[in-house]
Amino acid sequence: MKSVLIQKGTILTASEEYKGDILIRDGKIEKIGLALDDRADTVIDAEGKFIFPGGVDQHTHFNFTFGDSTCVGWESSDAAVVSGTTTVIDFANQKVGWTIKDSVDSYEEEKVKGKACCDYGFHGVVFDPSEALFEEIQRLPEYGIPTIKLFMAYKGHPYHCDDDSVLKALQASVEPGVTIMVHAENAEMIDVLQKQTVAKGITAPIGHAISRPPEVEAEAVQRAAYLAKLAGAPIYIVHVTAKEAMEIIRNEYGKGTGIFGETCTHYLTTTMDRLDQPNFEGAKYVCSPALRTQDHLDALWEAVRKGWLNAVSSDHVGFNWAVHKHAGIDSFINIPNGAPGLENRIPVMWTEGVAKGRITRQKFVELCCTNPARINGLYPQKGTIAIGSDGDLVIFDPDYRGVISNANSLHRVDFTPYEGREQIGRADTVLLRGEIVAEKGKYVGQAGSGTFVPGKPFGLSYELR
Ligand SMILES: [Zn+2]
Repeated sequence: MKSVLIQKGTILTASEEYKGDILIRDGKIEKIGLALDDRADTVIDAEGKFIFPGGVDQHTHFNFTFGDSTCVGWESSDAAVVSGTTTVIDFANQKVGWTIKDSVDSYEEEKVKGKACCDYGFHGVVFDPSEALFEEIQRLPEYGIPTIKLFMAYKGHPYHCDDDSVLKALQASVEPGVTIMVHAENAEMIDVLQKQTVAKGITAPIGHAISRPPEVEAEAVQRAAYLAKLAGAPIYIVHVTAKEAMEIIRNEYGKGTGIFGETCTHYLTTTMDRLDQPNFEGAKYVCSPALRTQDHLDALWEAVRKGWLNAVSSDHVGFNWAVHKHAGIDSFINIPNGAPGLENRIPVMWTEGVAKGRITRQKFVELCCTNPARINGLYPQKGTIAIGSDGDLVIFDPDYRGVISNANSLHRVDFTPYEGREQIGRADTVLLRGEIVAEKGKYVGQAGSGTFVPGKPFGLSYELR
């Protein structure tokens, strides 16, 4: 019977803020109260600190392969933990001819077990939208995989899915309550614009943003809304970046369409002019959809504040600049898409969101912890501080001041898109199921101690707004 008592902290949830003590026993929260006098194996003084639920990052791509490039994997998941993320839902690619279940199982066996430092779940990424897939969707909740993603973008890539696949997946999802996630960009429009941009002599990283304007995203989000309406299924739009796309989600939801969405840390905090830098520096900011101008960032903050977008993810991909990104030195079309961010999501959202007055502390918890747990069917085991929930807690020091630098990062990538930015606040102590796994930016847990957490279906039927 291992126990931890955390005293005198200020407890934050998505709806409340209060002073209290927390007792964790055998990995679960057993008591919450004022001046608890229970004996415990470990006692932590949290006076002057905030305590919020361990972060849930529902959008990462460990071990992702883009062309010939494969990026860093689960050995870097300690980077999530030190910053306050204790659960990661990773995108596991389907192997062509395989079921989602077998693809996920072999990925977990080969790449995740023995390495994971945080608890985890998976979204299946569809590579083979055959009749077998639409049948398998019925069974996915039994395996604890209640979400799959389809790429509407990336014409010519093996994971691109046409509308017929998205529609059939949505239709198949109604009964079992599987959540269909889509990367919404119009693949045909991008293909034309990329070729025209290169033909004009623009091959540097800025060409990436020029060839993926807001219209390509908005068009696909509107189409996704119609596909969802036609199927009578809810749909989830990953990484919303454009004001126009966000407005479609807001307006469609207002009309009763079951359309939900997230944005990502970098889309809230980083503008597209970063792509326009000399010496191929801009390649560090190549991700899809593309970064936008400040007016879009302002609109996204309003959207998360008002609940039009429901979560903030990292879309973490650990491509190295010196090796992987340089595949596109001659043309932006060949730059692998994606940037690291799982280590930065919590601190950057606190710094730019809470400390700068853009969102409340409750909204921060909702966006970074509670709603991602709900969407993926992990709530209330994960994503909140309540009796019976897992003892995944972040004891957060709001007085910490620092500067983000890659030299001080754990993520095993050769750059961070947040280099040189100020950081306000830091995870002082992080607990995973009652075990102290990080202290003051250092990982002190056991690699491989992370466990699979099966998700329940119907994640989008919760009241997310
Ligand atoms: Zn992604």
